[in-house]
Amino acid sequence: MDITALYKIFQECSSVTTDSRNCPKGSLFIALKGDNFNGNAFAAKALEAGSAYVVADEAEHVPAGDSRYILVDNCLHALQQLANYHRRQLGTRLIGITGTNGKTTTKELMAAVLSQTYNILYTLGNLNNHIGVPLTLLRLKPEHELGIIEMGASHPGDIKELVDIAEPDYGIITNVGKAHLEGFGSFEGVIRTKGELYDYLRERGNSTIFIHHDNAYLKEIAGGLNQIPYGSKDGLYISGHVTGNSPYLAFEWKADKEGECHEVQTQLIGEYNFPNALAAITIGRFFGVEPEKIDAALAAYTPQNNRSQLKQTADNTLIIDAYNANPTSMQASLANFHNMKVENKMLILGDMRELGKDGPEEHQKIADFLTECGFEDVMLVGEQFAAARHSFPTYPDAAAVIEVLKQSKPHGKTILIKGSNGIRLNTVIDYL
Ligand code: ATP
Ligand code: MG
Repeated sequence: MDITALYKIFQECSSVTTDSRNCPKGSLFIALKGDNFNGNAFAAKALEAGSAYVVADEAEHVPAGDSRYILVDNCLHALQQLANYHRRQLGTRLIGITGTNGKTTTKELMAAVLSQTYNILYTLGNLNNHIGVPLTLLRLKPEHELGIIEMGASHPGDIKELVDIAEPDYGIITNVGKAHLEGFGSFEGVIRTKGELYDYLRERGNSTIFIHHDNAYLKEIAGGLNQIPYGSKDGLYISGHVTGNSPYLAFEWKADKEGECHEVQTQLIGEYNFPNALAAITIGRFFGVEPEKIDAALAAYTPQNNRSQLKQTADNTLIIDAYNANPTSMQASLANFHNMKVENKMLILGDMRELGKDGPEEHQKIADFLTECGFEDVMLVGEQFAAARHSFPTYPDAAAVIEVLKQSKPHGKTILIKGSNGIRLNTVIDYL
């Protein structure tokens, strides 16, 4: 089926869904396939549940003569093509955001700031892959004035695929760091992949990026682009410095042109959120949001995404960052925790997964850093931390930690909990 015909059908529909358990009335159901499911098998169910049309790619699931079914060669390609076509039809200015860490937080902060002045569309949650990006684009409406599209990657070429679908007008790479090294092959592979966003914008010509000036890796690959820099150095488009982190981040910022100094007390845990906030300020100012409105938006923002959250239990204060971990975010979390002015610190850290051959070295570096910081009350969980040289107690899994905590529960501590999701450190929270 040609794209204009499919687009007509899309325009008749109330929304697009790929989840047969969630088929709103009048929606377009696109039958994707995964490792463990085949959307085609749910086509009839989707129509029953409320969808107006189904896009399928297996003829045996398409009853002859039923105009509610649209048979295509490949549903994933149809979804992506449709998203790109829609994006082009509307022509909304889009900001593409990628980076190793801080994408979602920065996206949320940017959205909070820009929505002070604009009607914006932005990625929901973490829908940042080859399915999430097109679904986000298909939510674009004529009334949206700007869009923010989060793009994630775990292999070379992932960002190229996403920018070709989204065709962003502006770009921001929050940072480059060590994550998914297994998929990328090396740190250079990470930089090249994130750089696919810059490559796309460079090819388009006369494109603008927002760039963390303190990051030498980013500056190295940013040639040929209009750069709007932010960071710690005076005189940048936006500059600033951290003024407090116990436990919530506070900072000052000023714009080169305006000179006036702003103080912001956030509700974010972690000094590593400082560049994320500066990025949001930079983009806000670039698009003309008034400084006072920017400050108010940042001060009011409370994270909803289960990352870097502070939890007060009856006995302890927990800093929970157990959703993901890679060497860069682990280092950032530890440095932040080290600088935090609180007594009785304790750490429960889990292995950083998906590092491939770099795993042993990266776990050793973290173990060395823990020793350097002088942390004493540390529990390390997982086989990779167990294999590193250090004097901290290690545990095979979260269940083993829970057994220890059941025997002797800590009291009056501030506890950092961080590790890859697969280590399931979230399960220890109930025992603290
Ligand atoms: P994902 O790859 O899961 O989409 P993300 O890039 O969207 O992650 P966030 O969800 O914003 O990132 O943050 C995840 C974690 O990364 C945080 O909890 C924190 O530990 C770390 N982090 C956030 N911002 C930065 C930063 N600027 N530099 C280093 N680490 C950061
Ligand atoms: Mg994210």
